[in-house]
This record gives sequence, structure tokens and C-alpha cells, in this order.
Amino acid sequence: SAKAAGGNRWTRFDEVMDREADREARLGRDLRGAVARGELFLLYQPLVELPHGRLAGVEALLRWQHPEHGLVPPDVFVPIAERNGAIVEVGRWVLEEACRQAAAWQHRYGERAPGKVSINVSARQLAEPGFVAEVAAVLSSTGADRRRLMIEVTETAVLGADTAMAAVRELRGLGLQVALDDFGTGNSSLSLLVDCPVDVLKVDKSFVDGVTGDGPQALVVQSLITVAQGMRVEAVAEGVETPEQAQRLYEAGYRLVQGFLYDRPLSADDVAQGIEAATNSWYAATPSGSA
Ligand code: C2E
Ligand code: MG
Ligand code: MG
Ligand code: MG
Repeated sequence: SAKAAGGNRWTRFDEVMDREADREARLGRDLRGAVARGELFLLYQPLVELPHGRLAGVEALLRWQHPEHGLVPPDVFVPIAERNGAIVEVGRWVLEEACRQAAAWQHRYGERAPGKVSINVSARQLAEPGFVAEVAAVLSSTGADRRRLMIEVTETAVLGADTAMAAVRELRGLGLQVALDDFGTGNSSLSLLVDCPVDVLKVDKSFVDGVTGDGPQALVVQSLITVAQGMRVEAVAEGVETPEQAQRLYEAGYRLVQGFLYDRPLSADDVAQGIEAATNSWYAATPSGSA
């Protein structure tokens, strides 16, 4: 009967939820030892300057090589780490590793080293009272150039969180850059830009996906560059996959782009090879004309 079927569905739903909870508990436990076992590593996705295609920087993106499950994506384990608190230890490792790498590039390549080295920081890390002091300590222990370091936070991490907003101010006071990541997808409004000044807006891929269409995404992309230019904030378009999108973004006024069109996240060695091979631009310059 329909009732029995419904009952079955609920039983199955409960089982799925149990399995999910099990999986979360197991991954969460494994994650606690992942740093010590050396299972984490960083990849670096280039940030490209238009129209010439120069390397403007890189974004550090975390990977976890799980001994049984293989490569676990950050979209899966970062939220778990946030919930069980492991993110504090994991985040500290990311900060140290990215700063150590940034310092190595600077030492080796000087002016040709990535101009920005961007690090993603979660809401929980940003709200930790000792976070800014930790950043300052890692900067001095690694010798990384603070003006080349960028901290990426999300709207939801700073919205209505006084400690997080204070941390953003203090980081900028130290000379680091701060970016608002996935901009436009959080439940905030443009007033966040007034309450919490930042250096860079990263316009989310979901808008970039629609930039060549005639839907509202194209209007959002155009409006955000106008706001950014007016507020003297740099804008980055995330998730650029086609030359047509790059062309449209360039015409709209975007000068910093990131996406699979240019490169996927690379190993530190591949970044070094790119720097060594590049004469002026890394990437063929696609856009033509100007805004
Ligand atoms: P995010 O910071 O917005 O990073 C951009 C994500 O989009 C990356 O996924 C990147 O590989 C992907 N991406 C870049 N260009 C393209 C494109 O053209 N097409 C498509 N389809 N995807 C593109 P990834 O590395 O899987 O990271 C996912 C999210 O996990 C990040 O989003 C960030 O929120 C979080 N995350 C990554 N590393 C860290 C970290 O070290 N700490 C924290 N707290 N979060 C991190
Ligand atoms: Mg990011
Ligand atoms: Mg992003
Ligand atoms: Mg994003």
C-alpha cells in the first residue's frame, strides 16, 4: 500500500542519514590525524591579469589524500572540519605551508614571484580570538611578504560577526590583503562592503557562468564591477571556462580572472616551471578591444 511504501521510504531515509552521520564521524576522526600523517597538501590556481595574460597571483587550495578513500575534495571535508573543530589545526597547517611556499618563491624569483598568494580561511578560524596573532607569527617565522599575502573570507563568515570583522580590519592593518570570496552567494547585501572594507571582491562562478547569456547573471556581473570600481576594490571573476566569457568580462572592465580556461590548480613545482618558462605572459591573451 501507499502507506507501507511511505514507511519504507522513511526507513530508507533514516538509514541514509545514519550512514551520512557515520561517514562524517569517521572522516572527522581521520582528519584529526591527517596533518601529523602528512596527508594534506596544497595546489595553487593561477590568478591571471588581462589582457596580457600575466600571472597576477595564485590561490592555495587544500587537498586531502585519504589512505583508503583517495583524494577527498575540500567541499566535503572542510565543512566537517568546521563542525568538529579540526579546522583550527588544519587551517594553521594551510597558513604555514602557503607562507613557507610564498617565501620560497620570493627568495627564488624575486619580482617574478606571484604578486598575490591567496589563502582561504573559514568562518570558525576567522572568529578564533588568536587568529590574527597567529598570522603575524607565521609571517615572521616564514619570512613571507605580507603585502603579497591575501586572506579569502566569505560574506557569511563576516556578516554580523564582530570578531570576524575586527579580524579583517586587523589583517588589513598588518598590510595583508583581504578578499570577499564567492561574492554574491551569501545572504548579505552590498552594505557589507561599507561595514567591512576589503581589497578584493571575488565574483562567484555562478554569475560568471551566465555572463554571455541574456539572463540576470550578466547584469550582476556588470553591476558588481561598477560597484568595485567605484569603491576602489579590485574585482576577480572566478570560474572562467571559455574565451567568450573572458572576452565579455574584459569588456565589462574585469582585469583579474581565474578559471579552468587558464589553469586548474597546479602543484608548487608546476607553478615554478611556469614562472621559469614565461617571458612576459603565461597565457595567450584572448580579449581584444577595451571597456
Ligand atoms: P573557492 O575558494 O571558491 O575556490 C574555487 C574552487 O573552484 C576550487 O575548488 C577551484 O578548483 C574551483 N575552480 C576554479 N576554477 C574553476 C572553473 O573554471 N570551473 C570549475 N568548475 N571550478 C573551478 P576546490 O579546490 O575544490 O575548493 C572548493 C572550496 O573549498 C573552495 O572554494 C573553498 O571554499 C574551500 N577550500 C579550499 N581550500 C581551502 C582551505 O585551505 N581552507 C578553507 N577554509 N577552505 C578551503
Ligand atoms: Mg577562494
Ligand atoms: Mg571562490
Ligand atoms: Mg567559489
